Amino acid sequence: MPSQSNTVLVTGGAGFIGFNLIKELVGRGYFAICLDDLSCGPREHADELDRLAKCRFIRHDVVEPIDLEVDFIINLACPASPPAYQRDPIKTTLTSVLGIRNLLELARTRGARLVQASTSEVYGDPLEHPQKESYFGNVNTMGPRACYDEGKRCAETLIYDYSRIHGVDARVARIFNTYGPGMRIDDGRVVSNFIVQALRGEDVTIYGDGLHTRSMCFVDDLVDGLIRLMESAEAGVAPVNLGNPREISVVDFAELVIAMTGSSSRIAYLPEAVDDPHLRRPDITRAQEVLRWRPRVALEDGLRETIAYFRGQLAEAAVSGLHQGVKPVDDMRS
Ligand code: NAD
Ligand code: UDP
Repeated sequence: MPSQSNTVLVTGGAGFIGFNLIKELVGRGYFAICLDDLSCGPREHADELDRLAKCRFIRHDVVEPIDLEVDFIINLACPASPPAYQRDPIKTTLTSVLGIRNLLELARTRGARLVQASTSEVYGDPLEHPQKESYFGNVNTMGPRACYDEGKRCAETLIYDYSRIHGVDARVARIFNTYGPGMRIDDGRVVSNFIVQALRGEDVTIYGDGLHTRSMCFVDDLVDGLIRLMESAEAGVAPVNLGNPREISVVDFAELVIAMTGSSSRIAYLPEAVDDPHLRRPDITRAQEVLRWRPRVALEDGLRETIAYFRGQLAEAAVSGLHQGVKPVDDMRS
């Protein structure tokens, strides 16, 4: 059990993964600081976390330096949904690059261990399948996804250099698509879009022919992997894929969601998103060996829980009159 002095700073802590992660950290005895600029994390998450005895919330933009007494830093601060990170692409790149520079300085001066939320997007539209950590990736530096992909790649580079030059103790998790309770109704990613559309009886919007694949990891599994990485004495700075290797096409996923929600929704095919990766599946050998981690939650079980969560969110939104439509984002598609 960690002692009271084991303080974990979670940047982007009010977002989907951060909210789940901080609750788990506090449950395991850590003291957490949730730092977030609330640019896409909900205020309600920050308030709920701030009410916990072993958590406090700080509103701050990671682009600006910060000094805090901390033992661990988990950097999740970055918009993660394609519509969100493409809305202000310059800010997205700066958030990843300047954000990690500031947090590496904090880790260096405070002697804290840093865990970076990197991403499967560093592999771009991969030419190797499944993706191992040794794969260099295939990213279009000029495309609309580059702000996210290249920002995360540059953040990794800064981490490896701070580790080599300054001896900073850092870890890099390359996270693959993660879903679960705590996502926003209007997040814009495939899981929330499809479930919310199906529950509302609206068309389920597929961008392209639906043959793209993703591998979906339930958030509880991902959070467990992140904490193992943070606590591991052996992991070192080399990147570790965290994701669920079960691969599913977008159209099969749409049909699964429609069946599991009992919806009468139909599928609507819209133009393909620009530079959308065609295939994605993690090779998790390294996570299995170094962290003794693998996902435990089957897609159907995780989806059942996530559907129940969104039913609750929609009921609450209906009661409070905050009905927000989930709309496909035009500028993402060709
Ligand atoms: P999210 O968008 O729900 O949460 C991101 C949080 O970061 C939000 O609360 C937002 O307000 C905050 N934030 C954004 N810019 C900030 C800034 N400049 N300063 C401070 N806070 C800022 O995303 P998520 O799904 O919870 O993802 C968390 C992290 O994990 C991200 O870094 C993302 O790139 C990474 N990741 C997530 C997935 C996934 O499938 N969820 C996959 C790969 C990587
Ligand atoms: N997608 C879709 N309809 C949607 C949202 C997403 O067809 O309403 C597709 C998207 O084009 C991609 C996959 O689902 O092929 C996963 O998209 P998401 O935005 O969840 O995450 P990504 O893995 O692209 O970052």
